[in-house]
Amino acid sequence: MTQLMNENGIRCDGRRVDQLRNISIKVGVLKNADGSAYIEFGKNKILAGVFGPRDVHPKHMANQDSGILRCRYHMSPFSVTERKNPAPSRREIEISKVIKEALLPAVILKDFPRTVVDVFIEVLQADGGTRCAALDAASIALVDAGIPMRDLVSACAAGKVADQIVLDINNEEDQEGQADMPIAYMPNLGKITLMQLDGILSPSEYKKCVQTGINGCKLVYEMQRKALMDKYFTNEIQ
Ligand code: ADP
Repeated sequence: MTQLMNENGIRCDGRRVDQLRNISIKVGVLKNADGSAYIEFGKNKILAGVFGPRDVHPKHMANQDSGILRCRYHMSPFSVTERKNPAPSRREIEISKVIKEALLPAVILKDFPRTVVDVFIEVLQADGGTRCAALDAASIALVDAGIPMRDLVSACAAGKVADQIVLDINNEEDQEGQADMPIAYMPNLGKITLMQLDGILSPSEYKKCVQTGINGCKLVYEMQRKALMDKYFTNEIQ
C-alpha cells in the first residue's frame, strides 16, 4: 500500500490537501474539427474535438425543435499501463453519458433544429479524474466551435484520502483512497451539472467535499478562461 499522506499533510504526489495538479490548456489544436482543445491535467492528457451544428445521421435522432448533443468519451489503448481494449467499455459508455448530461445545461441548441453537435473525447494518457479533465476540454472545444453557451462548464474532483477531504484526486488516491466525488459546475450561474460519489462520507464530510470540489472548479474556470483569452484576444493568428 502506498502512503497517501505524510505526517505533514503532504500527499503522495507532493501536493497540499487543497492543491490542484498542474493544468495546461490549449485551444484550437485540430485543423479539421470545428472546435477543439487539448488539456494536460496532472499526468492526464486529453483531446476534445467538436463538429457541428451539422445534419443528424441517423435522421430519426433529429429533434424538430432543437439541436441535439452527442458525446463520445474514449480511452486510447495506450492511455493506461495495461493495454485497454479499444472497443467501448461499460465505463466509457457511462462516462460519455454523464459528460453529455453535464454539458447540456450550458449549451443553447434551440436555434439549430434538426442538427447535432458531436463532442469526441480521446484520453491519450489517464491518471485519475479523466471525466473531469475531459469535461474541461470539451467545454472549451464547444466555445472554440462557436456554440452558444450559457456558461463554461468547469470540472474537478474532490474526495477523502487518509481521513482528510482533499481536492483533485489522482489515480493512486482514486484506487486506494476512501472517496472520490467528481463535480462539474457552471461558475457564473453557480449551478452543479455533474456530481457523482464513489465511497462513503459523513454528512459533514459530504458538505466539505462539495465545497472543496466547487472551489476547485472555480480555479479550473480561471485557467479555461485564460486559455480562451490567449487564443482569441492576442494579435497572433494561429
Ligand atoms: P476517472 O478517470 O474519471 O477518475 P474512474 O474513477 O473510473 O474515472 O477511473 C480512475 C482511473 O482509473 C482512470 O483515470 C485511469 O487512470 C484508471 N483506469 C480507468 N480504466 C482503466 C483501465 N481499463 N485500465 C487501467 N486503468 C484504468
